[in-house]
Amino acid sequence: MSIIESTKEKIVELERAADQFALIKDTLPFEVRFTTQGLIDNQLKDLRYRLEKLTSLRSNKSCTVCDNWIKEDQEPVQLFYQYNNTADPANITVCPSCIGSMKKVMFTNEAEKLWGLQPGTIKQDRRLGNLQAFEEIGLVYHTGRYIKIHELVMKNYYEPRIKEREKKAKK
Ligand SMILES: [Zn+2]
Repeated sequence: MSIIESTKEKIVELERAADQFALIKDTLPFEVRFTTQGLIDNQLKDLRYRLEKLTSLRSNKSCTVCDNWIKEDQEPVQLFYQYNNTADPANITVCPSCIGSMKKVMFTNEAEKLWGLQPGTIKQDRRLGNLQAFEEIGLVYHTGRYIKIHELVMKNYYEPRIKEREKKAKK
């Protein structure tokens, strides 16, 4: 049995003991009840902590993009890419949150389509300086002929305006 399995088993055993203790503890003198409960709680805490350490070490992988450790319950995407036989293969591991954040940056025409804005709206707002605060922190940026924009700008700058417009249209 691996050390992880045996630790898991010990936790289950101890939880069972804790349940049994809970059934009889009211019949025990306060002193005994207090110390036994303390022992069980401490040991459980210790075992759970050890298990957490063991399982987080087990994955032993970190995200190639953000350098954070991949947690056991995360499903990273992995790629071994080798340019040719003489090159060392690159081992690329990307955590779900990095994959998620890549999808949050888009070209302005995609964003306009997704949020139902007139084509060119974002470019025009940028020219007028309306997006400057977002641009300064890198959530809007130029890349070649195109402009890329983060979902956060759409949610915080455009969505309130869209809602307001909708409200006015209803009246
Ligand atoms: Zn990452």
